[in-house]
Amino acid sequence: MTQAEETIFSRIIRKEIPADIVYQDDLVTAFKDISPQAPVHILVIPNILIPTANDMKIEHELTLGRMMTVAAKIASEQGIAEDGYRLIMNCNKHGGQEVYHIHIHLVGGRPLGPMLS
Ligand code: IMP
Repeated sequence: MTQAEETIFSRIIRKEIPADIVYQDDLVTAFKDISPQAPVHILVIPNILIPTANDMKIEHELTLGRMMTVAAKIASEQGIAEDGYRLIMNCNKHGGQEVYHIHIHLVGGRPLGPMLS
């Protein structure tokens, strides 16, 4: 069994490199995307390394649920809840995943158009 390799996101969680962290607790961290695709673009990640959606297990359910409720809380704080927003998780090559530490993209602040491209 191969050990999953840490990504830059683990270093952001540990605050070893700068990031605009908007929320952190015992289970999850949220920070602004370095290359925002909309006025609000925040990544919500687990503090433990789960490389892809394929690696999500029953024992992660508390953390995965926290990711969702924190995303909704941040959307409200950012003032985009009423107009709406999108929560996205990309998986592997066809999903367009670039960083192999799962993350929910919270994207909003403008109309987002059709979902798939
Ligand atoms: P993915 O394509 O779903 O894996 O998304 C990875 C996201 O991470 C992209 O939107 C990147 O802009 C973002 N990203 C990569 N490195 C950093 C960083 O150091 N800080 C903040 N966001 C990052």
